[in-house]
Amino acid sequence: MAKWVYKFEEGRASMRNLLGGKGCNLAEMTYLGLPIPQGFTITTEACTEYHKNNNALTQEMEDQILEDLTWLEGINGKKFGDVNDPLLVSVRSGARVSMPGMMDTILNLGLNDVAVEGFAKKTNNPRFAYDSYRRFIQMFSDVVMGVPKSLFEKEIDALKAKKGVKYDIDLDTDDMKSLIATFKQIYKDNQHEDFPQDAKTQLFEAVRAVFRSWDNPRAIVYRRMNDIPGDWGTAVNVQTMVFGNMGNTSGTGVAFTRNPATGEKGIFGEYLIDAQGEDVVAGVRTPSPISQLEKDLPECYKQFMELATKLENHFHDMQDMEFTIQEGKLYFLQTRNGKRTAQAAIKIACDLVDEGQIDEKEAVCRIEAKSLDQLLHPTFDKDALKAGEVIGHALPASPGAAAGKIYFTAEEAKAAGKGGRGERVVLVRLETSPEDIEGMHASEGILTARGGMTSHAAVVARGMGTCCVSGCTELKVDEEKKVCELGGYTFHEGDYISLDGNTGNIYKGDIKTVPASTNTGDFGRIMGWADKYRKLRVRTNADTPADAANAVRLGAEGIGLCRTEHMFFNEDRIPKIRRMILSDTVEEREAALNQLIPFQKGDFKAMYKALEGRPMVVRYLDPPLHEFVPKTEEDMEQLAKDMNLSVEEVKTRCDELHEFNPMMGHRGCRLAVTYPEIAKMQTRAVMEAAIEVNAEEGYSIEPDIMIPLVGEVKELKFVKDVVVETAEAVKKEKNSDIKYHIGTMIEIPRAALTADKIAQEAEFFSFGTNDLTQMTFGFSRDDAGKFLESYYQNKIYEFDPFAKLDQEGVGQLVQMAVEKGRKTRPDLHCGICGEHGGDPSTIDFCHRVGLDYVSCSPFRVPIARLAAAQAAINNEKN
Ligand code: PEP
Ligand code: MG
Repeated sequence: MAKWVYKFEEGRASMRNLLGGKGCNLAEMTYLGLPIPQGFTITTEACTEYHKNNNALTQEMEDQILEDLTWLEGINGKKFGDVNDPLLVSVRSGARVSMPGMMDTILNLGLNDVAVEGFAKKTNNPRFAYDSYRRFIQMFSDVVMGVPKSLFEKEIDALKAKKGVKYDIDLDTDDMKSLIATFKQIYKDNQHEDFPQDAKTQLFEAVRAVFRSWDNPRAIVYRRMNDIPGDWGTAVNVQTMVFGNMGNTSGTGVAFTRNPATGEKGIFGEYLIDAQGEDVVAGVRTPSPISQLEKDLPECYKQFMELATKLENHFHDMQDMEFTIQEGKLYFLQTRNGKRTAQAAIKIACDLVDEGQIDEKEAVCRIEAKSLDQLLHPTFDKDALKAGEVIGHALPASPGAAAGKIYFTAEEAKAAGKGGRGERVVLVRLETSPEDIEGMHASEGILTARGGMTSHAAVVARGMGTCCVSGCTELKVDEEKKVCELGGYTFHEGDYISLDGNTGNIYKGDIKTVPASTNTGDFGRIMGWADKYRKLRVRTNADTPADAANAVRLGAEGIGLCRTEHMFFNEDRIPKIRRMILSDTVEEREAALNQLIPFQKGDFKAMYKALEGRPMVVRYLDPPLHEFVPKTEEDMEQLAKDMNLSVEEVKTRCDELHEFNPMMGHRGCRLAVTYPEIAKMQTRAVMEAAIEVNAEEGYSIEPDIMIPLVGEVKELKFVKDVVVETAEAVKKEKNSDIKYHIGTMIEIPRAALTADKIAQEAEFFSFGTNDLTQMTFGFSRDDAGKFLESYYQNKIYEFDPFAKLDQEGVGQLVQMAVEKGRKTRPDLHCGICGEHGGDPSTIDFCHRVGLDYVSCSPFRVPIARLAAAQAAINNEKN
């Protein structure tokens, strides 16, 4: 019989995959003898089985839950659903890694109309008991059954208004009783049945809701953004309730053993006296700093500090702990390795090495590679900032600087921001909740009126690396009317505001930002260790000297892909390449090419100089025609003038060039097969540039020439012959014995399948996984975004195959091509230059299949260096 349920005392920290993060740490804390309200964990495997079993708990699972419930009743000396002294539990989700977006917590489960009376008598605190029941009905209805939260909040607000009071705490026992009656009616109106009175029914419903929430749309989006596989599942933790809302010797809080924003050592946290956990997390009341606890309850503070240190030393990492004090007795409700900014992660990892807690390799693995993005994010331009007007100040919840247009809802932010209309957006909200996640992602910065450093907005923004300022109490927001007021100003949707996530300052207007510099001490140490342990080399995709220099600054060891057609993207050059594309005869084309060659050669020289002798793979022209053919009347007229043609003639030539599938059209090496003079011009430009730069700078550059979109060895051979002939001619003219290498992109499935033959002609392979993905899936690179969303929601695909390599399919082609290619040519140099080259999971794959390097955009170079080291260290371990 499978075991679906584990008591906390049966688990250990090593059982994370089975018990989830929360569950395995509760087990470990139990093992360490910490004060933990006891309970049990329903496993992640049960979640997977639940989904397989048509979204139903199996009889075996239900039996095991009931069995452990009986045990829990025994150790607490209370019965579940009892009319005199009921056992109450919390039900919380807990995946292997913490995952906002899923159902989180239900408290006070087990109360019903009768049990609440017993609970009131037993605690001698009727207001507290009825308040607990009121909260439970609200949470159960919303979280388990999906009855909108706002229906309940409206009733509370109405009652407060009627009584002329401001806070929930001003409502008395009778008010709570009347709210309970109203809430139960809301439940009935929505669910068409009475609020469940049977505690076991409540429990099973809650467990099912946690399992269901694993697949809700928000959780699916979060998984995709964070590379979490859909088959991990979540565990459910059922834990005896303790109460932080039993008066002035009770309270609840969250605390970190180091500062999650800066990494500074020392307890950092917040707590609320006389409150339940959700009050802190939801940011409904603004909490006090943890130092206040020392004044309020010194004994509890002392014990808390001792145990917090014990936990950090045990887990050798910064801990994020939730605790509750019930009538002077301290309990830990959970601990986990705390989420932190990249800046904090780097400092903490270096400090832990210096403290002797972890070694260099562990330090390298402690930093989430993607999070380095945060360090590369902008700060304010110092002069612009001096002129800026501070209009408010709040908590510096997530670092970085952001300036943008104000939007008041996540939907509008999503439509306007990154991935939408491309505006710079600052999302301004009263507080954020998990449904805001996509809007937050699309924003440069987030500003909230409510909530502390551990509120939803703060935690999620920090995770995303998005600048966030939270808990701005002076900020008045009217989300419906789309206006807010701060510092004496009124702002409407579309007005500019600027946020400093490092200081918490809020500025009027659009303050200029500048990119961050990453070469600070701790960052340098981590990168130094990463470079020591990685096997893969890291290059960059760059087409301008500025990008190349920036990539070198970030640690690039050369250029893995210089897209030569991109060198003609700017306004004064594009007409020249258009002229070449629209040429009708060899003579016309050669004339156009003669105009291009000085630019091309000048650019190559500048690139080689920016690289200071590092290698550069020059990819020959690969212009998908639809990106280059003129579209506007104005461009056509200009071209007609340049080419001495009528506008009509230009139009006709454009029409002739029209392709139904330009991505599969006359591009890549097909152009050079049809028009060898293009390859000749490019060869002359690159060879002359390298020879001249070697002479001028004393470098020994050996040009790497890459032929794109090859599917058949004979077409590669054809273009190669053209290149060799010109290269040898240039060498002779310049009296040079420079070496050069000719390789190809593997980006067409046929090239991968015939890689052994291709390697007879190619000295190196570079996997163009953008096209390889496009052609393996049969998805258009330009259009897949329009339908992939349905694939995620229906769990057909879990992630965007253009962002993260599909290792099962496309990866098989890559692996096969490397093996076949190296059979023919054992020293075949292999790399990747598709967008995937900067994605950590793809980098791990590249390490495993034995590529020599990855090539990615300049700002992802540090990420790739770190991910390559993690791949080497983790694969060595396994
Ligand atoms: C590729 O296809 O992966 C590639 C790098 O080339 P491009 O994106 O220019 O087609
Ligand atoms: Mg390509």
